Amino acid sequence: MDEDLIFGQNSYYLNKKSDPETIVRLLNCGVQQLPLGIIFLDKDKRCTYANRHAFSMFHSEDTLDALYKIFSEWMNSLGIEHTAATWCRVFKYNDKERLYRVRFRNVIDSENKLVGFMYTIQNLSEMVENNTGEQYRLTHDELTGLYNREGFNEAARQLLRTTDKEYLLLYSNIKDFKLFNQLFGLEKGNDILLNIGDMLMQHVKEEDVYARINGDHFALCMPKARFDEKKFKKLVREVAGRVTSKTYSLHMQIGIYEVRDPYMDIALMCDRAYMACKSIKKDGVCEIAWYSDEMLVNALLEKEVLSSFDFAIINRQFGIFLQPQVYADGTLYGAEALARWMHPENGLIQPEVFIDVLERADLIYKLDRYIWELAARQLARWKGTVMKDISISVNVSPKDLYYLDIKKEFTDLVRHYDIDPGLFNIEITETAVTSDVGKCAKLILDLQSSGFMVEIDDFGSGYSSLNMLKDINADVLKIDMGFLRKTDNIKRAQVILNYTIDMAHELGMRVVTEGVETEEQFEFLKGMGCEMFQGFYFDRPMPVDSFEDKYWGKNNQSEEKRI
Ligand code: C2E
Ligand code: MG
Ligand code: MG
Repeated sequence: MDEDLIFGQNSYYLNKKSDPETIVRLLNCGVQQLPLGIIFLDKDKRCTYANRHAFSMFHSEDTLDALYKIFSEWMNSLGIEHTAATWCRVFKYNDKERLYRVRFRNVIDSENKLVGFMYTIQNLSEMVENNTGEQYRLTHDELTGLYNREGFNEAARQLLRTTDKEYLLLYSNIKDFKLFNQLFGLEKGNDILLNIGDMLMQHVKEEDVYARINGDHFALCMPKARFDEKKFKKLVREVAGRVTSKTYSLHMQIGIYEVRDPYMDIALMCDRAYMACKSIKKDGVCEIAWYSDEMLVNALLEKEVLSSFDFAIINRQFGIFLQPQVYADGTLYGAEALARWMHPENGLIQPEVFIDVLERADLIYKLDRYIWELAARQLARWKGTVMKDISISVNVSPKDLYYLDIKKEFTDLVRHYDIDPGLFNIEITETAVTSDVGKCAKLILDLQSSGFMVEIDDFGSGYSSLNMLKDINADVLKIDMGFLRKTDNIKRAQVILNYTIDMAHELGMRVVTEGVETEEQFEFLKGMGCEMFQGFYFDRPMPVDSFEDKYWGKNNQSEEKRI
């Protein structure tokens, strides 16, 4: 990642008329007062400044080089990287042990140029009960200095048993944080966690207990009366703004459990708040969900899906339904392949039950590969028949972009089944595209150069639809009529729809509207110039057999359907 996250570098004001030396002296006076050791390096890693505290913490002579030597040797002896964001270790001097928490930061100027580095060192020894800091380490998180899971459980337990106020337990998750770490590295990931930790520290009150439970999960136990959802979201947006860059935007999901029984196990409360968190489907910067008992039932269902998924794939329990796609005159030109789970005991299961679950568990790619293969096989079966020109569209999940080499998957299928890539359409959702526009733009070009048609699915459902279009050159824009159903202001939505269709045409894309349910909708969409349609008004998704029974005959009365 090119750009650096600016951490906690609040704006400052200098009187330009003052003499620089006076300014340095005054600033030094301030820094000397801090209860922290501070060491600055310039960008060539030369030690350029340290305050008195730093010298006394490391029992150093009063030259910067000597101090930095002791400090570096200590880090080296612990095997700690000089750029590690935050860590906490014991420093030994003359048999005395001191527990120090060290934070490392890049210092960046107003134009984002690196000017140097800063270490702040905090002496935690007084906060801990014994000199080795063992108890502190057991109950605190090394990175953020907040409570860890054990510390939180104990502190929240004590708090809830000694108060008569109503409390909430909030549990947060950062969407796709694992992926973020993989893409941008642990150091950047840690920076984000530190920002969240800092936000918590700055905004909680004494009566609250808060912690980093593990990874990207934070928990906060606070009185219900003080929780203001709007204010909380605003706060999270501020933090998100701080860590958002051109290539990454933070999406925070927060689950809330209302404490009913203060004697319930804290870990169980956390589980429930996390359940609420996992129920969040929306993709905003900060989404909040409250726990309900229904979520417990869903969580059990989710477990069931995950535990039987591999078996279901191996035993070919997944299949495709085809939903017809037609031109304005009603003739069939293609179909969308939609996954269905034919469960031996539970019967036909709709995608809404398993797609999200598999996406969250990073398993969707296994299903998608399987579905794409079924679609390719279907196209191969239709070769040389009356159905030979009917296209099939398949869905690509946003997660597939990270787990699969999409172009290779599709070109391999085309080669293996010897089918026309021009009939094998690839639907990428708008949210997948906006999550990484650069990567998607390249992928789309690659796929097009191999002869595939690329469609942007569910266009208009995300937040930056228009922004994305300037960089993406797809063949087809697929607009979901759901967006009309969800609004109270049909007139305005229709105006937007009309202009979107015109714009797509101007940009050289064709338009499919899906979710068309009534003749009235069909007529006004036709009037707006939309050329392709999909929806219950024409047909629902159906088993391949039914699809063939219905359309084989229609396309050519004389030819019999092949078995
Ligand atoms: P999608 O790709 O936008 O597919 C269209 C969905 O809209 C289908 O739901 C279809 O049955 C439904 N639909 C079609 N016409 C109408 C209509 O007139 N009114 C209404 N209310 N709905 C209509 P389905 O089959 O339940 O699929 C839901 C979503 O699940 C799909 O949305 C897609 O995002 C996902 N999905 C389905 N199969 C797959 C798959 O193989 N892989 C992946 N990654 N996702 C899939
Ligand atoms: Mg689709
Ligand atoms: Mg769609």
